[in-house]
Amino acid sequence: MDKFLQAAIDEAKKGIDEGGIPIGSVLVIDDKIVGRGHNRRVQNGSAVLHAEMDCLENAGRIKASDYKRATLYSTLSPCDMCSGAVLLYGIPNVVIGENKTFKGPEEYVKSRGVNVKVMDNQECINLMGTFIKNNPELWNEDIGV
Ligand SMILES: [Zn+2]
Repeated sequence: MDKFLQAAIDEAKKGIDEGGIPIGSVLVIDDKIVGRGHNRRVQNGSAVLHAEMDCLENAGRIKASDYKRATLYSTLSPCDMCSGAVLLYGIPNVVIGENKTFKGPEEYVKSRGVNVKVMDNQECINLMGTFIKNNPELWNEDIGV
């Protein structure tokens, strides 16, 4: 098990404990976690705090040259907004826990030169499956449906 994906899963579980949506994310530079976060739409009444955005926000201001060595981990395939942040900051690597529950614009992100790796992690799939079964409205709101 990838220790950074595990850290993202731990973030997703914090989200459940807070009554939120179980998606977690970490940002890694030079083999160190420099930021971590989880979806806080419910907790903060936020329109933008998907896990990846919360993670990037918590990592704070990072030099362009550091983003160029970064890997963004997310338990779920990044949506249009979060993929846009990856492209904006030139993050070259994205590792995705799963994309069966939801698939963002992975092909487009790859076409822009980003290395995208999907892990097909069963724990990530189970976290979302259970959550959506219990909270279908919250999930639809999160993906703008
Ligand atoms: Zn997103």
